[in-house]
Amino acid sequence: VQAVFRSNLSHLLELMGSGKESLVFMKKRTKRLTAQWALAAQRLAQKLGGTQRNQKQILVHIGFLTEESGDVFSPRVLKGGPLGEMVQWADILAALYVLGHGLRITVSLKELQSNLGVPPGRGNCPLTVPLPFDLIYTDYHGLQQMKQHMGLSFKKYRCRIRVIDTFGTEPAYNHEEYATLHGYRTNWGYWNLNPKQFMTMFPHTPDNSFMGFVSEELNETEKQLIKDGKASNMAVVYGKEASIWKLQGKEKFLGILNKYMEIHGTVYYESQRPPEVPAFVKNHGLLPQPEFQQLLRKAKLFIGFGFPYEGPAPLEAIANGCVFLQSRFSPPHSSLNHEFFRGKPTSREVFSQHPYAENFIGKPHVWTVDYNNSEEFEAAIKAIMRSQVDPYLPYEYTCEGMLERIEAYIQHQDFCAASGLAPPGARAPQSPLVLAPNATHLEWARDSGLAPKAWPPVYSLRAWLAAAGRACTDTCLDHGLICEPSFFPFLNSQDAFQKLQVPCDSTESEMNHLYPAFAQPGQECFLQKEPLLFSCAGSSTKYHRLCPCRDFRKGQVALCQDCL
Ligand code: UDP
Repeated sequence: VQAVFRSNLSHLLELMGSGKESLVFMKKRTKRLTAQWALAAQRLAQKLGGTQRNQKQILVHIGFLTEESGDVFSPRVLKGGPLGEMVQWADILAALYVLGHGLRITVSLKELQSNLGVPPGRGNCPLTVPLPFDLIYTDYHGLQQMKQHMGLSFKKYRCRIRVIDTFGTEPAYNHEEYATLHGYRTNWGYWNLNPKQFMTMFPHTPDNSFMGFVSEELNETEKQLIKDGKASNMAVVYGKEASIWKLQGKEKFLGILNKYMEIHGTVYYESQRPPEVPAFVKNHGLLPQPEFQQLLRKAKLFIGFGFPYEGPAPLEAIANGCVFLQSRFSPPHSSLNHEFFRGKPTSREVFSQHPYAENFIGKPHVWTVDYNNSEEFEAAIKAIMRSQVDPYLPYEYTCEGMLERIEAYIQHQDFCAASGLAPPGARAPQSPLVLAPNATHLEWARDSGLAPKAWPPVYSLRAWLAAAGRACTDTCLDHGLICEPSFFPFLNSQDAFQKLQVPCDSTESEMNHLYPAFAQPGQECFLQKEPLLFSCAGSSTKYHRLCPCRDFRKGQVALCQDCL
């Protein structure tokens, strides 16, 4: 059945149910964004032309909202608790619905069981019931619940699951045996899924799929109105919880900021002013989302104190014409040195409060400075106040961009097919890889006629040997490309090393998330033995990693040029 775009979201609002404060927040958001979604659907329909889009039956089980997992978020919606997750789930639901797929939504274990066709109390029986869904979107909590209640079907159908996972799960932490042996400990378990089944809030490592969310987009008239109405001396502080004001050393930079600008906050409070917030700050309390947007429209500066990490608010601020000022982290924060990241299944190093804003947006919209350096901080404030900056929203965070990306995943990602992860190619015959004319990297010979049916298409492959100590994520970015883990199997061979003129004295095949790689001392080449461990993330000074890169569409890093 062909999927048909939908522009009326009232049925979705019914499907979302009611009661919980979190659902109320999500529904308000969806309602407010209806016109944007409808317009985006129209544009995408035009862009895709008559492309065949199969309608899928989709279950969305939001595990963290279930009573069974404690539902710690709902009671905090009106009290300054995290809202980013709810923003994202609301947008995922809207996108799936607008794209025209069949949708079921569950926020309790009971509903989950009845939708899976599992009789209550039979969860642990060795029972396989046919699964009435092509795809299931859930989170780590939901994954655990499905494992407990699906019996044998879990194993059979887990390739249909997509896990919404804010900060991402790197391959080394996903593979049970490897993680256990090498100390990649996590609080979230080892699921041996294809790493692309984990979907993140920002494009962290391309080992996972980038899901994202949306921010409201302005038309030209609105943009002009905002530019004309900006108060160049008005700053809003990022963060809803009073605790962010306890940050060490803040007196100094707050003092400087206060010399130049009127400082506003949206810190939640019960009855009296939160004592952490200094008297000179104009605190509005936690605002409803639309009023928060209004505040951002007037403000010139949105300033981060270092926490929360990587939420939606800075994108909203930039979309509303603010400059986002944030602190550089030196040394970078990670699961090794910071409580917040401890136990999370990633070793990613975070060099600022919002790495996406720093690396994908940057100046003039984003300034990342050392807050301990008063001169640098003060100079930034002055320069920002003088600057003229237009509202900006990266395409991948518009409704159209999100629809385009999710639809591409739905139609092309298949982790159930046996070829979902090709076997290591250690003994593969001569492949159609060729050394590029400038002898720097490998490409796929266009005329070889041997292109396997793969998505992304293999013609976008560019394979580079990384410098010692560099991860594939960074190596690809250095060349204006993005790492594409699904291409690893094509590179995992002696043939690839040979064509790159790497002098391997010996070649071995082992389980290691940094392989394929070349070790200089000893001239040894190593191939990957376990396909689940192919990883863009990760580095060691011992190895030059062999990295599969590809191009990407401007403003849509998840998709290659020929991916639509
Ligand atoms: N937000 C809000 N009222 C406020 C401040 C923020 O509704 O007073 C919203 C904001 O629009 C954003 C969401 O809270 O979409 C999440 O923001 P944040 O970046 O702080 O992420 P979190 O830490 O909550 O996940």
